Amino acid sequence: MVPGFLVIAIDGPAGAGKSTVAQGLARRLGLSYVDSGASYRAAAILALENGIKPDDESAVAQALNRAEIQFSGDGEHPRVWLNGREVTAEIRSPEVTLAASRVARLPAVREKLIALQRSLAASRGVVMEGRDIGTVVFPNASLKIFLDADPRERARRRLAQNRQEDAAATLEQTANEIQWRDQLDAQRKISPLVTAPDAYRIDSTGLTAEQVVERILALAREKKLVNDEVP
Ligand code: C5P
Repeated sequence: MVPGFLVIAIDGPAGAGKSTVAQGLARRLGLSYVDSGASYRAAAILALENGIKPDDESAVAQALNRAEIQFSGDGEHPRVWLNGREVTAEIRSPEVTLAASRVARLPAVREKLIALQRSLAASRGVVMEGRDIGTVVFPNASLKIFLDADPRERARRRLAQNRQEDAAATLEQTANEIQWRDQLDAQRKISPLVTAPDAYRIDSTGLTAEQVVERILALAREKKLVNDEVP
């Protein structure tokens, strides 16, 4: 992390509204936006395509050594590339979603992807969202937010977001998938989903993304990270 750059970490469980909020915040503050989960999803595609089990730590890590994951586009249209091929839509498939949570449990995989995530903030300020941004990736982040919401509400939001990729999914299935992923993320030994002691917790149930962005901007102003004129 380069001194002088703003780094805003937004962590929380699936469906809490992290992406929409982080993108809105990045736009308002003129920062870049990074979805760290997309790197775990790209690693999952790599495993699936190469016939590697998403639990095979050394095989996934070796494949990652030879692979290139890149991000492009602005905050509103973030794009993800794997070995020069765009995988922006593919990373949202249900199969990739489940495999991503499995590769994310592997220490060697996390080590590589965390280095990639840190490099993305090396040259400019960033709003980065994920599960361990405030705890592990940027423990010295300028501002840390832990965003949560009622599980039912999270399932509803995720279902609406994934309509295109999985038109047949039901609310029940989505709620189960979220619960399964939350459990894996919270119980894993390395980088579990926990609230950083210095993070501000925001419950987004019943709030619009815009209202959450305003709350975060108010915190940023309070901490004198931005001036009062931010539009
Ligand atoms: O955020 P998203 O749902 O796209 O993340 C996909 C998966 O990647 C999560 O379920 C989680 O297991 C993993 N992940 C992680 N650490 C992060 C971001 C995502 O372990 N910082």
